[in-house]
Amino acid sequence: MNKKMMNLGKQPSVIREIFEYSNKRKSEIGADKVYDFSLGNPSIPAPALVDDTIKELASSGDSVALHGYTSAQGAMPVRTQIAKNITKRFGVEASAQNIYITCGAAASLTSTLKAVCNDGDEVILLAPFFPEYSVFCENAGAKTQVVLGVGDNFAPDFDTLSKVINKNTAAIIVNSPNNPTGAIIPQSDIEKLAALLKQKSEEFGRTIYIVADEPYRELTYGADVPYIPSLYDNTIVCYSYSKSLSLPGERIGYVFVSPRCECSDDLFAAICGAARSMGYVCAPSLMQRVIAKCDGMTSDISLYDKNRTLLYNSLTEIGYSAVKPEGAFYLFMKSLEEDANAFCERAKKYELLLVPADSFGAKGYVRISYCVDYDTIKNSIPAFKALFEEYKG
Ligand code: PLP
Repeated sequence: MNKKMMNLGKQPSVIREIFEYSNKRKSEIGADKVYDFSLGNPSIPAPALVDDTIKELASSGDSVALHGYTSAQGAMPVRTQIAKNITKRFGVEASAQNIYITCGAAASLTSTLKAVCNDGDEVILLAPFFPEYSVFCENAGAKTQVVLGVGDNFAPDFDTLSKVINKNTAAIIVNSPNNPTGAIIPQSDIEKLAALLKQKSEEFGRTIYIVADEPYRELTYGADVPYIPSLYDNTIVCYSYSKSLSLPGERIGYVFVSPRCECSDDLFAAICGAARSMGYVCAPSLMQRVIAKCDGMTSDISLYDKNRTLLYNSLTEIGYSAVKPEGAFYLFMKSLEEDANAFCERAKKYELLLVPADSFGAKGYVRISYCVDYDTIKNSIPAFKALFEEYKG
């Protein structure tokens, strides 16, 4: 057997480990006594149109076609609809030939990274980052270069980036709104990044791609999220409906290969080939039809906004240090001791389940997922207070 895969399988992610602990603890003391902030599992229902469309499709009497294979890239009418929406919403010309429908952002990312990387290539990760990127890059045969962000908001560190990019750099993953910080990269920084990548691409005589990982695009609380393909030609967007439509278990998303990419048709063929090599063909047929109707819609994120305000205000009032997130549904908080793992262990005493950020590439922080019931946040505040007092007296 493949030992590397065996080790990967035996090594659950920190987040999953905490989630399992949470289930055990909830069965011991009751679900309402455990404040589980570990998983990024949406807590608000999908828009009504999602369920209505599923019901309508299921009772259409065309069950054979409904549950049958589509083409590997996805059903043509669905790809056409997604492309039309991209053009309408963001002003970037797109057609069905640029869209590959996938089983969520994870499949979009693995296919994209495999399509753009050759053995020995490097991918830049802007820390803090979604920990699975490391696994996805390794699977694509690429090494990772981690560049920690600067300032309270972990903004891209352009000085370090400029030094780190080299002849082996194939891509940089940009995730905005960000998991775990909730930060949104402003247009001025995307423009700066675009200029740097253009300059480095010319210097090293190779295309350097931006892989825009955008499962949280729609989850913003006021700030604009720049559309990267309109600012940098060689961009591939990895989109997912998991968070915007609260459908993570249905596994649906897409890759958009911007037609402005160099050799865009060949690049799209490479995405098709990469997806094929991993068996990621024909995303769930029923869900493809659902998103054809619901693309661009968003669950009622005012509920996350309410959670965000309560959590941020309460924690900072107690004395914790954090930047108010602008998007997604995570709050990134400074640990009260250098070792965030030890801090999270102590937090467990108060039934607070937080995720240490070491595997996100940032030490001394914890991630708090606030996609939970409002009452969970409200009831957890005394526990956060007690934890703070244990440290600060
Ligand atoms: N990228 C980021 C930044 C994420 O936070 C997640 C999931 O939490 C994914 C990708 C994977 O999303 P999906 O469920 O669509 O595969």
